[in-house]
Amino acid sequence: MENQILDGKALSLRIREEIRLEILTGLAEGKPRPGLATILVGQDPASEVYVRNKRRACEAAGLVNEHIELPADAGQQQLLQQVQAYNEDPAIHGILVQLPLPKGLDYDENQVLKTILPEKDVDGFHPLNQGALMQGNLAPRPCTPKGIMVLLKEAGLEDLSGKKAVVVGRSNIVGKPIALMLLERNATVTICHSRTKDLEAEIKSADVVVAAVGVPQLVRGEWIRPGATVIDVGINRGADGKLVGDVDFETAKKTARKITPVPGGVGPMTIAMLLRNTVEAAWN
Ligand code: NDP
Repeated sequence: MENQILDGKALSLRIREEIRLEILTGLAEGKPRPGLATILVGQDPASEVYVRNKRRACEAAGLVNEHIELPADAGQQQLLQQVQAYNEDPAIHGILVQLPLPKGLDYDENQVLKTILPEKDVDGFHPLNQGALMQGNLAPRPCTPKGIMVLLKEAGLEDLSGKKAVVVGRSNIVGKPIALMLLERNATVTICHSRTKDLEAEIKSADVVVAAVGVPQLVRGEWIRPGATVIDVGINRGADGKLVGDVDFETAKKTARKITPVPGGVGPMTIAMLLRNTVEAAWN
């Protein structure tokens, strides 16, 4: 039987090894070593883990990583100054400010994202880059949706002509950009959110389901159409402390043709795409 599990961990390790080799070749050709700056504000435990994983991946692939940690109360001005310094640093090709910024202080995430030079915006969150995505132009693309498209290609779904895709969630970092990318690959796309009337009926009609909600196991296995491909973006901590996705994996895998696990699905792909975006920012 065909392997149902879309193993993002294994695929991401393959991509990271490809990137490592590309960097070795690029350096031998005289290209600059790609450099990523990571900025962490405050001490959110989940953000600390995400940034640590990104930094380790950079180092293993041979990218330069400059990292700075600011106290939660550093303030917007200090953060913007740090971003500006990296904007002007020729050894830095990508800048990542780990979100969310500490709550209850005077941070303005949109202003921070706008301050990063669009060509160094390896998260793909700058309004110009989000606009470029909408217009179908080349620009850094958000890492999570970019990784999902690579996973779909791996699942044999490079062209989605005639397929119906249902995206659950409409955030700027996942839901909206993945909907645009699926559309670009010719899927017929429906975006669902908290005001959608009948989520079950929408999902039952989907050939491809992308769940990016943040509600543990919201999508029931019985809702999955036989043969559908299911991409679970959610990272939620269950009552027992274990990570669970937005899809009920055990029941969904009975009907899905392909399904991503949590952990080990979309998450590792996000990191691989961050490296990819940084190399592209350095060399293109
Ligand atoms: P947001 O909180 O920004 O967006 C959640 C979306 O889900 C909103 O559009 C919301 O609708 C919708 N929603 C909430 N409840 C329901 C419901 N009951 N039915 C239908 N839709 C609902 O989340 P993000 O997009 O930032 O993240 C989503 C999940 O993905 C999280 O678990 C996050 O941790 C994870 N994530 C994982 C990444 C990875 O690398 N694997 C990267 C980024 C995120 P409305 O707009 O109406 O409020």
